[in-house]
Amino acid sequence: MDDITILSPGIYTYGAMLIGGVLRGAGHRVTLTRAVTAPPAGSLLLMSLFSTQHLLDPAIRDLIRNHRERDGTVYVGGPVSAAPEMVLGELAPDAVVVGEGEETVIRLVEEGVSDALPGIAFLDGDRAVVTPSAPPASIDRPLPLIPDDIGSQSVRGASAYIETHRGCIGGCTFCQVPRFFGRTIRSRKIASIIEEVKAFAAHGATRLSVSGGTGSLYGSRDGEMDPEAFITLLRDMAGVMGPRNISSPDIRVDCITDEILDAIRQYTIGWIFFGIESGSSRVLRLMGKGATVAEVREAVERCREHNLKVA
Ligand code: SF4
Repeated sequence: MDDITILSPGIYTYGAMLIGGVLRGAGHRVTLTRAVTAPPAGSLLLMSLFSTQHLLDPAIRDLIRNHRERDGTVYVGGPVSAAPEMVLGELAPDAVVVGEGEETVIRLVEEGVSDALPGIAFLDGDRAVVTPSAPPASIDRPLPLIPDDIGSQSVRGASAYIETHRGCIGGCTFCQVPRFFGRTIRSRKIASIIEEVKAFAAHGATRLSVSGGTGSLYGSRDGEMDPEAFITLLRDMAGVMGPRNISSPDIRVDCITDEILDAIRQYTIGWIFFGIESGSSRVLRLMGKGATVAEVREAVERCREHNLKVA
């Protein structure tokens, strides 16, 4: 068993909590922190980095360098792993966990860095070694490691964004979701999500959001949406938290139906955040948005007809 610190700078990201829960489930002692402070000398530090700005942050760069100089080990994961060579070049950690990390990270912690381990990148001298991609991780996992002060944070008004499904059918050129999680939707079981919602509430979370690219794709199969699955999800989440404390803001303009909009009004705070991106259909086409300005306008009108606020 290892003592492991997971550092998620500034906020407890869902990914950091998820990895914490997976490692705890594998028998490790895990501390989750959002403070950029040094862990015990010689220990194992996992950095969950969600912004390329972290790569340039002097406090993070110093922490990694100093920890390694004190015989510590540093692994970096999270969205920055989309560019593993850049992470290695900027931060020089012991390894980068590339892509979905929950299965890779257990092997990395227990077996160490090896070119036989899929889904990692590391430096061999000056040469960056990127091993073959790991297969998509199982969507079933233990409860996340939820800190007791989760209620103190606000990410767009929510204590946390809960992962209900992975992947997006979209192909927006600027977006990491389909590149990180793929374009096939993988949905978690409702019972597992609701157990997690209850655990967040028990730890003091006041508001929760649905994450996963486009919320209403929850339950989709073979490119077909399943509005009933999404409506059940919102209803059951609201049953735990209360409808004023649930949001499902991020939705594609082409992933709404009247039933979905009614459910969002009934079971959430009643806001929808469309990724409108541009008022030019030409620009939307260039960025692979998959929607025209006319379709965006129509979606906004439909939301207003259902008494929803649009951002
Ligand atoms: S629709 Fe949203 S989540 Fe999907 S690829 Fe586009 S920006 Fe990303």
